[in-house]
Amino acid sequence: MGIEAALYVHIPFCRTKCPYCDFYSLPFPDPEKIPVKEFLHALKKEISLWQPLVETYEFVTFYVGGGTPSLIPPAFYQELFAFLKASLNFRPEEATIEVNPEGLTFEALSDYRKIFNRISIGAQSFTEKGLKALGRRHSVDDTQKAISLARKAGFSNLSLDMIYAWPGETLKELEHELELLFSFEPQHVSCYELTPEPDTPLWQAIKRKKITLLPEEQIIEFFWLIHDFLEDKGFEHYEISNYAKPGYQCKHNLFYWQARPYLGLGPGGASFLENKRFKNQENLVGYLEALRQEHFPPRDEETLDAEARFREAVILSLRLLKGISLSEFKRRFDFDVLDYYGEIIEKLVRNGLLILEKDRLRLSRKGLLLSNLVFRELV
Ligand code: SF4
Repeated sequence: MGIEAALYVHIPFCRTKCPYCDFYSLPFPDPEKIPVKEFLHALKKEISLWQPLVETYEFVTFYVGGGTPSLIPPAFYQELFAFLKASLNFRPEEATIEVNPEGLTFEALSDYRKIFNRISIGAQSFTEKGLKALGRRHSVDDTQKAISLARKAGFSNLSLDMIYAWPGETLKELEHELELLFSFEPQHVSCYELTPEPDTPLWQAIKRKKITLLPEEQIIEFFWLIHDFLEDKGFEHYEISNYAKPGYQCKHNLFYWQARPYLGLGPGGASFLENKRFKNQENLVGYLEALRQEHFPPRDEETLDAEARFREAVILSLRLLKGISLSEFKRRFDFDVLDYYGEIIEKLVRNGLLILEKDRLRLSRKGLLLSNLVFRELV
């Protein structure tokens, strides 16, 4: 048994770009034109290059995200999965595929199910008005169909993604969205506030005053409505933006939040192994070209010293609502959180942003809303 780690594969293809999205993905209105074979070949090469460097790890989670992984046919993943099994210590107990609701068939979902035991559906909104405001290609009907086909195909672990605070959203509409979301009985829900990322079309439209975001007080009210609604329905709010039924927290994402090792493949792949961080440059052409020549793709590399690893782990782990265990951090990093941050933590506790209870330090209700401010102090 090796050191447990997570494995991520980035699929950088979408049909079109959503106006709020700043993930690296390339638009392919005709999915037939996606260079599937070449991409699979490059991924296999990247795995082979990593293979001697990750022999001490055992990959226990697998996550295929994007982009839009469901644009790629199941045979691609079957081959990739078999190659991963043959090359690495790869025994995922949780294997997730991200899908968009449009264009899914029962046959494709049944084939995905042979590899993946968890599905994450990018529903984003449960009203036509919201989907239009977000510039999504699908309808609420598509989402409904996708969920029922996924269930029929055998996905018993289903996560829904939702974006709230889209322009013009009212409290009544959010309540309606939550009721509909709940009627689909997901095991996991991710709720993200619509955030204008620099240089996206959404950001530009806001700058040109073509779109107005909701006022801060309303966003806060939405945040707590979602929290109260989902907790009332038996979900645990376990990370700032994530809720799960008991036993269904996303094991893969917990690796990131607990600052545990992960390997990321593909042109958007990021890895954190031992004391090193790697980030592939987001450039499909450069990625394919380097791997054709049997080199690692162009990437940025950074070595973190013990102190930097500790500070990063504090910030990541505070995203979890249960916070961090002071004794565990002392054992893992040999730094005492309270001694190390001293005054800073005292101030955050005094200002009601952090709560210190016996061995645990966690965000307060106020801290959950102002988490960026807290993290800026601890960085
Ligand atoms: S489908 Fe997802 S990854 Fe693709 S552009 Fe839209 S938000 Fe971004």
